Amino acid sequence: MSQTDYSRTQVLIVGSGPAGLAAAIKLKAIKPETQVCVIEKAHDSGNHNLSGAVLEAKALHKLLDASVNNWQEGDEAKEVLAKKVDKDDVMFFAGDKFSFNIFPVIKIAKKFGLGFGQMMHHGDYIVSVSQLTRWLGRLAKEMGVEVLCGFSAAEILWDKEKNLAIGVKLVDQGLDKEGHPQPNYVAGEDILADAVIIAEGCDGLLAEQFVERAGLKRKYTQLYSLGVKELIKVSEKQYEKFTGGRVVHAMGYPIWTPLRGPAMFGGGIIYPVDKEHIAVGIIVGLDFKYCDFNPQDALTRFKGHKFVKQFIEGGTVVEAGAKMIPEGGWNAVPRDPKTGSIGKSNVMLVGDSAGFVNMLKIKGLHNAIESGICAAQAVSVNLSDPTLCAARYTECLDMSDVAAEMKSAAKFRQTVAKLGATIGFPLSVFSKFMPDFDIERDTQTMKSQKYRLKPDVNFDKDTFTAVAATEHREEQPSHLIIYNRNTCSVKCTPVFGRPCITFCPAGVYETIGGQVKAANSSNCLHCKTCQRKCPFDNISWTVPEGGGGPRYKRM
Ligand code: SF4
Ligand code: SF4
Repeated sequence: MSQTDYSRTQVLIVGSGPAGLAAAIKLKAIKPETQVCVIEKAHDSGNHNLSGAVLEAKALHKLLDASVNNWQEGDEAKEVLAKKVDKDDVMFFAGDKFSFNIFPVIKIAKKFGLGFGQMMHHGDYIVSVSQLTRWLGRLAKEMGVEVLCGFSAAEILWDKEKNLAIGVKLVDQGLDKEGHPQPNYVAGEDILADAVIIAEGCDGLLAEQFVERAGLKRKYTQLYSLGVKELIKVSEKQYEKFTGGRVVHAMGYPIWTPLRGPAMFGGGIIYPVDKEHIAVGIIVGLDFKYCDFNPQDALTRFKGHKFVKQFIEGGTVVEAGAKMIPEGGWNAVPRDPKTGSIGKSNVMLVGDSAGFVNMLKIKGLHNAIESGICAAQAVSVNLSDPTLCAARYTECLDMSDVAAEMKSAAKFRQTVAKLGATIGFPLSVFSKFMPDFDIERDTQTMKSQKYRLKPDVNFDKDTFTAVAATEHREEQPSHLIIYNRNTCSVKCTPVFGRPCITFCPAGVYETIGGQVKAANSSNCLHCKTCQRKCPFDNISWTVPEGGGGPRYKRM
């Protein structure tokens, strides 16, 4: 494959996140002559990647030690991996003033082999996943991988006779709002491939299309959470007070408070970024029931807590963003019901596309990288018969560290989902012994109940999307489809009061002329919360033209 002819390749990887790039790097290291093409909908690698993030070192070292000579000596490697966790704090916030460090409880849990003991991060890297991804993208290119950014995948191409994926069709470019070709129209090309690795991240369009088409099944329904994060420029004194190797995870207010307060799954994070910036964020399970819940209100309250405030007060938000996380765990990984494969034939699902996030650790990056390595190993030995790839990949994955730790946390999130945060959290300590629960999908959990915290908070979503640097070409069909507006006005408005307007972190939805519309679709952050939380399953997130969306630099 030449630099310009990308219509045919041996291995096509959809998504240039850590999982996809790990697969690409490993494959090139094992078989340098293999044609590997990565397509990415973002303008640049890392632009759509957002996470806390704390990265367990083992998987990254396993990938790079065997693939890239002297990788740790490069300036970029030194910058991306400059910080290691030397102080872990797990706080419990009781109301907006009081806090207790419950890290000693976590240590005891670890000693007795209880699930919460996994929440220790000492020695892990504190990273920006956008920077990590950009760096991995550069390494992949240097090894000869074709990384094509600004290319959105619209659908998987199938050979109907063989019932086999043969590649991917890209999104058409240059349509107007009504879908008519403009002078700059370019029809989405087909990229044909022998093997396809789907690494789109959480709730990707292709991954879900493939799961349905290939008949893969999840034992438990997939659950999601939404993470909302800000990067705040603080004073030198505040940064020094926080210290550069410390990570703080917080439970309690404003996600869960005792008695009559809100009861949701989730918590907050505070991580150092560089000498001038601290990252603050919250993660909230999308099985929340409050119809007026605004995740950014919760973030504002979290920032207003006395413990958090001391580190960020007077600071300036310089970057922000939002992203969904697949929380369902090991039993929500889609598999072929007959063979157990995480994929089928020549198609493999890796990273968040499969759902390899361990919610006891609140981490998935290391699993994403490890799953990418497994996919590469499977492809490298099956290029003469790529239909064996998914089976070989699953064999490797099921024997890996990913499987071991995902199994240890398998029922944790479902226990909390079934029993509610107040009872489920404490009982989740024994989740290994819990029965299988029948869990509702996130779309089904909403009630007419309100998120009852006073005083009211007014969050400016326009400023939030401005610092997320999100943009799309305005003159294109909206990538957000509301199936039935009658449902909005007749069913949703009287009971829930149009919750998409409030929960969308980018303020995309508005009421115009009495109808709910995705009026500001060009502000969309691609978090996909709307298609997983609309209580009537009335929204579909499709892929816009390549290059659109947020442009995260240090998230
Ligand atoms: Fe309600 Fe969904 Fe319509 Fe929004 S799109 S108003 S959440 S039914
Ligand atoms: Fe997220 Fe949907 Fe809002 Fe886009 S429109 S930012 S995908 S909730």
